[in-house]
Amino acid sequence: MTIPYIDEIIYSRRKSIALIVQPNGKVIVRAPLRTSQRLIQEFVKSKSDWLTFTLDRVKKRQAVSPTLSFKEGSLFWYLGKQFPLSLVSNQSKIFSFRQGFFLKTSHLDQSKRVFEKWYKQEAKKTLSERTHYYAQKYGFSFKKINITSAKTRWGSCSTRGSINFTWRLIMVPLEMIDYVIIHELVHTKIPNHSQKFWEMVEKFLPDYRKRRLWLKKNGSLFQFE
Ligand SMILES: [Zn+2]
Repeated sequence: MTIPYIDEIIYSRRKSIALIVQPNGKVIVRAPLRTSQRLIQEFVKSKSDWLTFTLDRVKKRQAVSPTLSFKEGSLFWYLGKQFPLSLVSNQSKIFSFRQGFFLKTSHLDQSKRVFEKWYKQEAKKTLSERTHYYAQKYGFSFKKINITSAKTRWGSCSTRGSINFTWRLIMVPLEMIDYVIIHELVHTKIPNHSQKFWEMVEKFLPDYRKRRLWLKKNGSLFQFE
């Protein structure tokens, strides 16, 4: 008898049965040694609503997030929009962007490096420009901007006045980029997340809560590996 949805059962010296859905959608059951198939099946059945919901979420995430499959038609984020990748042989540049990404087929094995390089360049250009613009507009000063490869934070600010942004920020909509910029600029004056800090952020961006929530909710879409 087949058990619905299960890819693997791992038996070990544990006391209870657990159901796990991995980020890639693989369904794993962990069970105590000698647990019967029937018991496992009943357990999985009792969790079927949760399982359906979770697998659905994984599928949706896989559909929109850039995976490492650099194939014709794969979608990649830039400023909150997704653009398809085309593999071409007749272009002089290794890589270009014209409302879509164009990569020379001969450099397919270097896709990840080429993409990252482009994202970093774009991040440097766009983030520097906008940070200078807002600093001047609202009277902030900072020493320099660094583009990092941070995976879990969009930006940070050092006590010595340099502002760091991860290049991944260039994948999200400008509205959210501006929130991160203002957030870090305010940190040049108030290093903590006190009430005073949030009041100052709100003064410049009255709807900052909405943007902040958006990043929290959608941040996981913009992973690049
Ligand atoms: Zn902060």
